[in-house]
Amino acid sequence: MDLHAHTVVSDGTLTPADLVLLARRSGLAAVAVTDHDHLGGLAEARAAGEREGVEVVAGVELSVAHPAGDVHLLGYLVDDQDAALLGRLERLRDVRARRAHLIVERLQESGVPLTLEDLAREAPAQGGAVGRPHVARALVRRGLASSIQDAFDRWLADGRPAAVPKEKLGAREAIALVHGAGGVAVLAHPVTLPEDAREPLLRELARLGLDGVEVDYPRHDEALRRRLRALAGELGLVATGGSDFHGANKPDVALGMVDVDHAVLESLRARARGRRA
Ligand code: AMP
Ligand code: ZN
Ligand code: FE
Ligand code: FE
Repeated sequence: MDLHAHTVVSDGTLTPADLVLLARRSGLAAVAVTDHDHLGGLAEARAAGEREGVEVVAGVELSVAHPAGDVHLLGYLVDDQDAALLGRLERLRDVRARRAHLIVERLQESGVPLTLEDLAREAPAQGGAVGRPHVARALVRRGLASSIQDAFDRWLADGRPAAVPKEKLGAREAIALVHGAGGVAVLAHPVTLPEDAREPLLRELARLGLDGVEVDYPRHDEALRRRLRALAGELGLVATGGSDFHGANKPDVALGMVDVDHAVLESLRARARGRRA
């Protein structure tokens, strides 16, 4: 099973139903839907899961503000009707929509003639979690960048001319939000953090109630996986894994290219049950 995948409600390119169909065709028994700041893909994914015989795991990916850098937390097994979580996610998406407009303005100020209409063609439907990958797609579509990566490298990556920061949750708040919704919190892709920041951050988050860490990940080499697995063992965290599938927005990542054992999901379920008890 693959515990990390995005759909069109955030910055993936498959609908939730098509994601589940692809999961079945890829031979996966289960797939977690982990859209950025959004739980809106779950109902459709679950219905497709019933038809296709694929177990759908509820998830959400949250961006956390931390001096260490780009910290993403995966909330698994959350109640997708939890009012506090839903309300907070909706506000984060409103902020994302305003930020996307600012990014387009920045591009225009830099002489890149992208319009809001161009962006609207690539962005998720009203209420979706719009992000930089949608702007990147719009730039490619308009012939203003040669690829999504080129769009990031020239304009959108952190520190580039059209990068606009987005509102993020604090680590404590993000973990509490996930726990409050009955779920468990997992640190995503530690590889995106500076090497010397990974272990201190894991220790800090573990003290705040972190439940797991994404050990198996396409960009994690064997040495990093070994280190993370050892740390997970020491800190009592569940070692999870996922591909971070984004469809055509990450062409080199295939659904199921990270395929973790069902026992991982059972461990996450056990942690969630323990927290609710
Ligand atoms: P956002 O949430 O709008 O800030 O967009 C973040 C997403 O953009 C991440 O989840 C990545 O998939 C992608 N991304 C961020 N930085 C880069 C980069 N330097 N190159 C390519 N993709 C990136
Ligand atoms: Zn993404
Ligand atoms: Fe992420
Ligand atoms: Fe992701």
